[in-house]
Parts: sequence; C-alpha cells; structure tokens
Amino acid sequence: MKLTIPDYIQAIDPYVPGKPLEELERESGITDSIKLASNENPLGPSPMALAAIQRCLSTLHRYPDGAAHHLTGKIARFNGVSAANVVVGNGSDDIIALLVRALVRPGSRVIVPRPSFLMYAITAAAAGAVVDAVPLDPSLAMDLDAMARCVTADTRLIFLCNPNNPTGTVVTRSDFDRFMDQLPDTVVVVVDEAYIEFARHSDCLKTGGPQDVIRPQVTLRTFSKAYGLAGLRVGYGIMPAALAEVLNRVRQPFNVSAVAQAAAAAALDDQAFVRRTIALVHRELEVLYSGLGRLGLNYFKTEANFFLIEVGMPAQTLFDDLLRQGVIVRSMKAYGFPTCIRINVGLEAENRRFLQALETVLTGTGRSS
Ligand SMILES: *Cc1c(COP(=O)(O)O)cnc(C)c1O
Repeated sequence: MKLTIPDYIQAIDPYVPGKPLEELERESGITDSIKLASNENPLGPSPMALAAIQRCLSTLHRYPDGAAHHLTGKIARFNGVSAANVVVGNGSDDIIALLVRALVRPGSRVIVPRPSFLMYAITAAAAGAVVDAVPLDPSLAMDLDAMARCVTADTRLIFLCNPNNPTGTVVTRSDFDRFMDQLPDTVVVVVDEAYIEFARHSDCLKTGGPQDVIRPQVTLRTFSKAYGLAGLRVGYGIMPAALAEVLNRVRQPFNVSAVAQAAAAAALDDQAFVRRTIALVHRELEVLYSGLGRLGLNYFKTEANFFLIEVGMPAQTLFDDLLRQGVIVRSMKAYGFPTCIRINVGLEAENRRFLQALETVLTGTGRSS
C-alpha cells in the first residue's frame, strides 16, 4: 500500500485520552480501580437524563431531529440568547472541528495557549493550519497580551480555555474585553468554558450571554463534565447567528444522536444535580489540598474540578506506580509538565483512596510489585 498523506497530517501527535478503567482492569487483573484522569463527573449521569434516555429508546428506529430543535431552544433560553445563536455538536470537540472546517484553510494561522486542551492544536494542524502556541505566563494563566501580539493577517482563530485545562486558571472579564478590543474582526475568538460551572473566582469571565453574540466570538460548553454525560457526546457553541449559519452548512446533518439530544435537554433541566456536583467538588478539593499538604507536595489551586500536583519525579513513573494500586491519574508530560500529574476530584472515598495510594507509593511501600 502506498498512501499519500499530507505532511501536515503525518506530523500530528495523536491525542492520548485518559486510560479507560476497563483497559486497566483487563491488563492488571485489578477489579476495584478508580479513575481520576479525565475530569469526569464522579456522581455519574444526572438521574433525569437517565430517565429521558429510557423514554426515547423505543423510537430509535427514527433519525434524530437534525436541527435539534428542542435542545437548541432550551440551551438558548438557558443562556438568554436566540436559538439562531446556538449550534449543538457531538461533544464540544465537534464544534471545534466545525469552526476549523469553516474558517481555516492550509496556511491559515490559529493561536492556542500552551499548555492547554490539546484538541485545539490537533484539529487546526489536521486542516493544514500553522499553529502559534503561546506559553502561559509564570502564574500559569493565559498570556492574552502575548496572544494578541501573535495575530497576523492570516490568523483565523484564537482558542482560549477558561478555566484552563490543565492549569485551572481563569481569565477576568476586564482582561478579556481589553484583549478583544485589540483584535481585528477577521479573527474569531473561541472561549472554551468546559469547566465554567466550577469557577468561583469573583472576576472570572463567563461568556455566552446576549453581549457575546454581537462580535466574532464563540462560547463552547459541554455536557461532558458538570452535567455528567461524557460518554454520550454533547456540547454546544454560542456565536453570532451568521457564524452559526456557516457551521450548520459544514456539519453532518445528524451530528447529535436522538438519545444524546433527549438526555442533554433533561440534564439542562436538572440544575439541582449540577449544584450537587459543584458542592461535592468544592468540598472535596479542600480534603485533597490538605491531604497533599500533609504529604509535603506542592499543587496548583484550581477554579475547575481538576488540578496539577507537582510530584518531584517523572510523572510517568508515578503514573505506573499508582496504576498498580488501581488508581488512574493523568501524566502531564505531554502538556509540558514532566513532573506533574493531573487529577480530577472524585467521590469522597475515591479521593481518600488516591491520597492513601499516593502515600504508599511515595514512601516506597507500594513498589513491591
Ligand atoms: C473535557 C473538555 C472538553 C469537552 O469535550 P467534549 O467533546 O464536549 O467531551 C472541551 N474542552 C476542554 C478544555 C475539556 O477539558
């Protein structure tokens, strides 16, 4: 076989997702492992979403509503915008891909923070864009001034992640407005708010309202984190209607399944579940912080449901050691932090188990196997 692959595709490092529990258990024989690697909701899916899924199973012989009318309307009302400002997708990853497909051609430039969510750079590179990765500032926050200085006539997209994955830092509204004022309106700014529900910082930027659909700006939200539906794949973008119309031209006609539409609509109604999730995360963050303090480890305080821990050794080594204890975390080597791991907040018992496993591993008693 002689495949002709464009060199910009050949050059892509594949995205490495968090290790699935089933895979670990298959490989190691461990049966009660826990996963704190993918920022998922420890409470599971919203019960209202589960009930909605049950109710729609008997109509699965039908195609979904390609316009996702019911879900789109709910999302619009929830955010105080018009349905014409909302595009739903197969996860927010799908909206990222649609934006790149609609706006980028080979040779276009796309600005991303580094480190941040890797899908921005991967998706842009797959379209032949030149990716300008702008390092975070020393406080691990996004350097908006440096990102603005990077803009050229070929820049089509800028991705911001607020709170940023993996550092948990946020952008303030005033810094964001100053940033937007510096940009030519040929650039579309994407604010990925996958974790915005968890942010407590009083000046934290939150976009997606009526004031945010009148300039070239997109808000990304997902049902994968606070809403507990990562396996179902639903996310959305809020944007000017003219841009939504372009994205609707380039998306698959049925990009969100009927089950996903029904579950997401029910999950949006279940704000009590979201509040329970947020309360758990905030309560357990304190437990994790103090446990790590007792172990003498440095960590980075977060505005999200995950955070970085400096482990003072190669992250991959600690990852392997914790794996043998049945605890899956994420090595941050691929994100430029070779001695950091990232964990998300789990259930009370999971967090306690993580701290115990970490102590065992760090004091050497866990290295026997
Ligand atoms: C998890 C995550 C998402 C969500 O992606 P989906 O495709 O909606 O599951 C988006 N952005 C960031 C930064 C994330 O960490």
